[in-house]
Amino acid sequence: MNEARTGSARIIDGKASAARLRADVARRTALLATRHGVTPGLAVVLVGSDPASEVYVRNKGRQTLEAGMRSIERRLPATTSEGDLLELIASLNADPAVHGILVQLPLPPQIRETAVIDAISPAKDVDGFHVVNTGLLAARGAGIVPCTPLGCMMLLQEYVGDLAGLHAVVVGRSNIVGKPMAQLLLRANCTVTIAHSRTRDLAGVCRSADILIAAVGRPRMVQGSWIRPGAAVIDVGINRIEVATPEGPKQRLVGDVDFETAVQVAGAITPVPGGVGPMTIACLLSNTLAAACAQRGIDQGSLES
Ligand code: NAP
Repeated sequence: MNEARTGSARIIDGKASAARLRADVARRTALLATRHGVTPGLAVVLVGSDPASEVYVRNKGRQTLEAGMRSIERRLPATTSEGDLLELIASLNADPAVHGILVQLPLPPQIRETAVIDAISPAKDVDGFHVVNTGLLAARGAGIVPCTPLGCMMLLQEYVGDLAGLHAVVVGRSNIVGKPMAQLLLRANCTVTIAHSRTRDLAGVCRSADILIAAVGRPRMVQGSWIRPGAAVIDVGINRIEVATPEGPKQRLVGDVDFETAVQVAGAITPVPGGVGPMTIACLLSNTLAAACAQRGIDQGSLES
């Protein structure tokens, strides 16, 4: 466990945890190749040239190759029709060398996100957004789990340990973070509250949390005074803000939690950057390895030693 401290909170080192997970995935990927002759393939589809998406796609491609997997990148112009994108997805679904498919969001306005997510084969849906996977998670705790909440759970298990009986508050109810996060916490036997933009007395609800997850998209919204002393705080938010520096205005990444005040109160907290973010791509690689094994009928346990 990482023991770095600032203020009173332990700093949850997502970068280090993600590096360990990536190394483990790479080790198992190598065994999959030598023992079973299978190299997992991850296809990432980018429509348009959103600068943040470009960075994510580049990082995913690099880390996929570093893990010993095949990286397939498909870049389409922003004017691509929904039909053309669905055709590409159908061809990736049918390609046996592709075990995972990720379509980078957001998509241009002429393309319906739900139509795209519905079109990806659930077995290759390494983002875990298809209704088959969200249904499996809710009903059976199975299926492919969305990468960001999966990464948050891994950090909590590493830094908090047994979560049973703890009160977890998840601020945000999106399909990609808030809802699956709540499902995972429930399966870990937490008592779970989901808060959102209509929640009354949000600060009071947050103060009742042993575990506080912020997945809102509002820079530094959660203040230190909203946090119960000793609580574990997971900040999912990635917000770009402009800050004044002696050299002029600069872009800076901040979370949904006001780190400076929160770190004085929390028991453990993820920084932004360097907390949840790195875990997301590491979990994507882990999901791709699992998907490749499942598609080839290989027990992942056979890669443990
Ligand atoms: P989203 O789809 O926009 O959902 C935001 C949620 O926050 C909604 O449920 C919304 O409530 C709630 N909300 C908005 N304003 C609020 C307020 N004032 N008080 C209480 N709740 C409020 O966002 P998302 O995709 O879940 O992402 C959330 C954040 O996580 C973003 O900063 C995003 O960039 C970041 N993110 C990070 C990673 C990573 O790898 N670290 C991955 C994904 C997302 P309503 O439902 O009532 O509108």
